[in-house]
Amino acid sequence: MITPKLIPAHQSTDPDSWPNGEWSEELRNAVREVPALLSAVKLRLDQLEQPVDNAADFPLLVPQSFVARMTAGDANDPLLKQVLPTQQERQNQPGFVTDPLAETDVTQGFMKAPGLLQKYQSRVLLITTAGCAIYCRYCFRRNFPYREHRAGDHQQALDAIAEDTSVHEVILSGGDPLLLGDAQLQQLLATIDAIPHVQRIRIHSRITIVLPQRITQGLLDALQQRRCHTVMVVHSNHPNELNAQTLRAFTCLKQVGTTLLNQSVLLRGINDDPQVLAKLSIQLFEQGVLPYYLHLTDHVAGTQHFFVGDEEARGIYAQLQRQLPGYLLPKLVREHSGADSKTLMN
Ligand SMILES: *Cc1c(COP(=O)(O)O)cnc(C)c1O
Ligand code: SF4
Repeated sequence: MITPKLIPAHQSTDPDSWPNGEWSEELRNAVREVPALLSAVKLRLDQLEQPVDNAADFPLLVPQSFVARMTAGDANDPLLKQVLPTQQERQNQPGFVTDPLAETDVTQGFMKAPGLLQKYQSRVLLITTAGCAIYCRYCFRRNFPYREHRAGDHQQALDAIAEDTSVHEVILSGGDPLLLGDAQLQQLLATIDAIPHVQRIRIHSRITIVLPQRITQGLLDALQQRRCHTVMVVHSNHPNELNAQTLRAFTCLKQVGTTLLNQSVLLRGINDDPQVLAKLSIQLFEQGVLPYYLHLTDHVAGTQHFFVGDEEARGIYAQLQRQLPGYLLPKLVREHSGADSKTLMN
């Protein structure tokens, strides 16, 4: 690894000034305990509406720079609510199950090779890592048995992609693919890029939002060297997540020709408000990102308190549509197990 250059991340959009080691350092220093998080946002337990869960199976993890974007003293802060484990996750609501999309059900045949999922024509999804730089309470893969499905060196998955000439797009997912180091990503991207029938490489990464320092020169080089078109889908749910550092990260990615799209999840109590969603689209656009999907949550056990039903979602969406030009309106979608695409809800 190159020696980090100690330039504050917000000072320049010149990718050369991106420090290489800073992001992994920040990840090591991420907040992992409820008391530390509450103390950082100046909240006492008795100020919270929901009792916290200090022993949740799905752990707490949040980088300091994301905590810094929360409003101190606000128990309803939309960023805090995305990461703070509460007892609500222990409610067992009928119909909410660990794997609603049956992704791991081998009888469904979605798993083409270890770590390689294909549900839709012409594109495959590669599970690159098990880890993330943040643990989102609403995560639909919070119960996913990554350890069993992780590809290791991805060799079988890459062979399967090379053999199937109907695959034109490879989606790197996880976990978060940007948790891999620059050298590993460089190699993975180069191998996929060398498969002639692959035309696009898409990376889905919430790290672009929660740890924008991850957009290092090494990563930018790895993206720029590609024959394939590269697409980065950032995962932002709320305008408060965007700041000078995300702007800088997106600017650098655009400079190397990567197309930037955003996918959000519609979350009760966090962004189930047309005003908030409109502001998110507008601010993303100002930072160079176009909206892609607004996802309804799946029936995942432990996330029922974030769930917004179809009718309510359509109502919010109709109000959103009135406020925005068409190109700033994300597609409202839900995933149905067994369907041959995401299902458009509007
Ligand atoms: C969502 C998803 C995709 C991508 O679908 P798009 O509509 O192209 O964004 C691909 N593969 C799997 C398994 C998915 O769940
Ligand atoms: S970043 Fe995505 S995969 Fe990771 S915990 Fe959050 S929602 Fe889940």
